Amino acid sequence: MVVGAGIVGASVAYHAARAGAAVTLVDAGRPGAGVTAASFAWIGASGVRTGPAAALRASATDEYRRLEAELPGLPVTWSGSLSWGAMAGRAADGAPQAGPGQEIVDAATVATLEPALRQPRNGPSGHPVTAPSTRWA
Ligand SMILES: Cc1cc2nc3c(=O)[nH]c(=O)nc-3n(C[C@H](O)[C@H](O)[C@H](O)COP(=O)(O)OP(=O)(O)OC[C@H]3O[C@@H](n4cnc5c(N)ncnc54)[C@H](O)[C@@H]3O)c2cc1C
Repeated sequence: MVVGAGIVGASVAYHAARAGAAVTLVDAGRPGAGVTAASFAWIGASGVRTGPAAALRASATDEYRRLEAELPGLPVTWSGSLSWGAMAGRAADGAPQAGPGQEIVDAATVATLEPALRQPRNGPSGHPVTAPSTRWA
Protein backbone atom coordinates (compact mmCIF):
# COMPACT_ATOMS: atom_id res chain seq x y z
CA MET A 1 0.00 0.00 0.00
CA VAL A 2 1.44 3.36 -1.03
CA VAL A 3 -0.22 6.45 0.45
CA GLY A 4 0.00 9.60 -1.66
CA ALA A 5 -0.05 9.72 -5.46
CA GLY A 6 2.31 12.62 -6.02
CA ILE A 7 5.51 12.11 -7.98
CA VAL A 8 7.15 10.30 -5.04
CA GLY A 9 4.28 7.89 -4.33
CA ALA A 10 3.63 7.31 -8.03
CA SER A 11 7.30 6.46 -8.57
CA VAL A 12 7.43 4.16 -5.52
CA ALA A 13 4.25 2.41 -6.66
CA TYR A 14 5.44 2.06 -10.25
CA HIS A 15 8.85 0.67 -9.33
CA ALA A 16 7.43 -1.70 -6.68
CA ALA A 17 4.89 -3.01 -9.22
CA ARG A 18 7.62 -3.36 -11.83
CA ALA A 19 9.60 -5.43 -9.31
CA GLY A 20 6.63 -7.76 -8.98
CA ALA A 21 4.80 -6.43 -5.90
CA ALA A 22 1.00 -6.19 -5.81
CA VAL A 23 0.60 -2.46 -5.23
CA THR A 24 -2.35 -0.32 -4.22
CA LEU A 25 -1.80 3.44 -4.56
CA VAL A 26 -4.23 5.65 -2.65
CA ASP A 27 -4.65 9.39 -2.36
CA ALA A 28 -6.93 11.61 -0.33
CA GLY A 29 -7.57 13.69 -3.45
CA ARG A 30 -6.74 13.47 -7.13
CA PRO A 31 -3.43 11.86 -8.16
CA GLY A 32 -0.74 14.45 -8.80
CA ALA A 33 -2.76 17.32 -7.36
CA GLY A 34 -0.46 18.03 -4.39
CA VAL A 35 2.87 19.83 -4.52
CA THR A 36 3.64 17.91 -7.72
CA ALA A 37 1.00 19.93 -9.58
CA ALA A 38 2.71 23.18 -8.55
CA SER A 39 6.23 22.24 -9.64
CA PHE A 40 8.01 23.93 -12.56
CA ALA A 41 8.60 20.44 -14.00
CA TRP A 42 12.33 20.97 -14.26
CA ILE A 43 14.30 17.77 -14.60
CA GLY A 44 17.99 18.07 -13.94
CA ALA A 45 20.73 18.93 -11.49
CA SER A 46 20.06 22.69 -11.43
CA GLY A 47 23.09 24.49 -9.97
CA VAL A 48 24.09 21.76 -7.50
CA ARG A 49 27.54 20.50 -8.44
CA THR A 50 29.06 19.42 -5.14
CA GLY A 51 27.97 17.72 -1.95
CA PRO A 52 26.12 14.50 -1.28
CA ALA A 53 23.12 15.32 -3.47
CA ALA A 54 25.10 16.31 -6.58
CA ALA A 55 25.49 12.83 -8.13
CA LEU A 56 21.91 11.91 -7.29
CA ARG A 57 20.57 15.08 -8.89
CA ALA A 58 22.82 14.62 -11.90
CA SER A 59 21.27 11.19 -12.48
CA ALA A 60 17.74 12.63 -12.72
CA THR A 61 17.92 13.27 -16.46
CA ASP A 62 19.08 9.72 -17.18
CA GLU A 63 16.33 8.32 -14.96
CA TYR A 64 13.64 10.30 -16.78
CA ARG A 65 15.04 9.11 -20.12
CA ARG A 66 14.72 5.55 -18.79
CA LEU A 67 11.13 6.16 -17.64
CA GLU A 68 10.28 7.71 -20.99
CA ALA A 69 11.57 4.59 -22.78
CA GLU A 70 9.72 2.27 -20.41
CA LEU A 71 6.47 4.25 -20.53
CA PRO A 72 5.96 5.56 -24.07
CA GLY A 73 2.74 7.32 -23.01
CA LEU A 74 4.53 9.42 -20.38
CA PRO A 75 4.42 13.05 -21.51
CA VAL A 76 7.95 14.37 -20.86
CA THR A 77 8.86 17.67 -22.54
CA TRP A 78 12.60 18.08 -23.26
CA SER A 79 12.53 21.69 -24.25
CA GLY A 80 15.29 23.14 -22.08
CA SER A 81 15.66 25.90 -19.51
CA LEU A 82 17.36 29.26 -19.44
CA SER A 83 19.01 30.42 -16.24
CA TRP A 84 21.00 33.48 -15.29
CA GLY A 85 24.00 34.12 -13.10
CA ALA A 86 24.64 31.68 -10.30
CA MET A 87 23.63 28.66 -12.38
CA ALA A 88 26.98 28.83 -14.16
CA GLY A 89 30.02 27.59 -12.26
CA ARG A 90 33.35 29.39 -12.29
CA ALA A 91 36.75 28.22 -13.46
CA ALA A 92 39.84 29.15 -11.42
CA ASP A 93 40.32 32.24 -13.60
CA GLY A 94 36.74 33.35 -12.95
CA ALA A 95 35.46 32.42 -16.41
CA PRO A 96 31.92 31.01 -16.48
CA GLN A 97 31.80 27.25 -16.73
CA ALA A 98 28.87 25.19 -17.95
CA GLY A 99 27.89 22.11 -15.98
CA PRO A 100 26.89 18.74 -17.39
CA GLY A 101 24.29 19.17 -20.13
CA GLN A 102 24.58 22.97 -19.93
CA GLU A 103 25.88 25.51 -22.40
CA ILE A 104 26.94 29.13 -21.82
CA VAL A 105 25.07 31.33 -24.30
CA ASP A 106 25.42 34.97 -25.35
CA ALA A 107 22.80 37.70 -25.36
CA ALA A 108 21.96 37.15 -29.04
CA THR A 109 21.22 33.49 -28.42
CA VAL A 110 19.04 34.38 -25.44
CA ALA A 111 17.10 36.78 -27.67
CA THR A 112 16.56 33.99 -30.18
CA LEU A 113 15.45 31.51 -27.53
CA GLU A 114 13.21 33.98 -25.68
CA PRO A 115 12.38 36.94 -27.96
CA ALA A 116 9.99 38.48 -25.40
CA LEU A 117 12.59 38.51 -22.60
CA ARG A 118 13.97 41.96 -21.77
CA GLN A 119 17.67 41.63 -20.99
CA PRO A 120 19.55 43.94 -18.61
CA ARG A 121 20.86 47.01 -20.49
CA ASN A 122 24.33 46.75 -19.00
CA GLY A 123 24.52 43.01 -19.35
CA PRO A 124 23.55 40.38 -16.84
CA SER A 125 25.36 40.13 -13.53
CA GLY A 126 26.12 36.54 -14.41
CA HIS A 127 26.11 34.49 -17.57
CA PRO A 128 23.05 32.93 -19.14
CA VAL A 129 23.15 29.18 -19.20
CA THR A 130 20.92 26.92 -21.20
CA ALA A 131 20.34 23.29 -20.30
CA PRO A 132 18.72 21.68 -23.33
CA SER A 133 17.74 18.51 -21.49
CA THR A 134 15.26 20.21 -19.21
CA ARG A 135 12.10 22.15 -19.73
CA TRP A 136 11.47 25.80 -20.43
CA ALA A 137 9.54 27.24 -17.49
C1 LIG B 1 6.63 26.04 -6.66
C2 LIG B 1 7.40 24.74 -6.68
C3 LIG B 1 8.15 24.44 -7.80
C4 LIG B 1 8.87 23.25 -7.83
N1 LIG B 1 9.57 22.97 -8.96
C5 LIG B 1 10.24 21.80 -9.04
C6 LIG B 1 10.92 21.45 -10.24
O1 LIG B 1 10.90 22.20 -11.21
N2 LIG B 1 11.59 20.28 -10.28
C7 LIG B 1 11.58 19.41 -9.22
O2 LIG B 1 12.21 18.35 -9.33
N3 LIG B 1 10.94 19.70 -8.07
C8 LIG B 1 10.25 20.86 -7.97
N4 LIG B 1 9.59 21.16 -6.83
C9 LIG B 1 9.59 20.19 -5.76
C10 LIG B 1 8.63 19.04 -6.12
O3 LIG B 1 7.47 19.57 -6.73
C11 LIG B 1 8.26 18.26 -4.87
O4 LIG B 1 9.44 17.84 -4.19
C12 LIG B 1 7.46 17.02 -5.23
O5 LIG B 1 6.40 17.32 -6.13
C13 LIG B 1 6.92 16.40 -3.97
O6 LIG B 1 6.21 15.23 -4.37
P1 LIG B 1 5.49 14.36 -3.30
O7 LIG B 1 4.95 13.17 -4.02
O8 LIG B 1 6.39 14.11 -2.14
O9 LIG B 1 4.33 15.28 -2.70
P2 LIG B 1 2.90 15.68 -3.33
O10 LIG B 1 2.94 15.91 -4.80
O11 LIG B 1 2.34 16.75 -2.47
O12 LIG B 1 2.06 14.35 -3.12
C14 LIG B 1 1.60 13.94 -1.86
C15 LIG B 1 0.23 13.32 -2.07
O13 LIG B 1 -0.12 12.68 -0.85
C16 LIG B 1 -1.51 12.86 -0.64
N5 LIG B 1 -1.73 12.69 0.81
C17 LIG B 1 -1.15 13.39 1.81
N6 LIG B 1 -1.59 12.90 2.98
C18 LIG B 1 -2.42 11.86 2.70
C19 LIG B 1 -3.16 10.94 3.51
N7 LIG B 1 -3.13 10.98 4.86
N8 LIG B 1 -3.91 10.01 2.88
C20 LIG B 1 -3.94 9.94 1.53
N9 LIG B 1 -3.25 10.79 0.72
C21 LIG B 1 -2.50 11.73 1.30
C22 LIG B 1 -1.79 14.27 -1.15
O14 LIG B 1 -3.16 14.42 -1.52
C23 LIG B 1 -0.86 14.36 -2.36
O15 LIG B 1 -1.49 14.01 -3.59
C24 LIG B 1 8.84 22.33 -6.74
C25 LIG B 1 8.08 22.66 -5.62
C26 LIG B 1 7.35 23.83 -5.59
C27 LIG B 1 6.51 24.15 -4.38
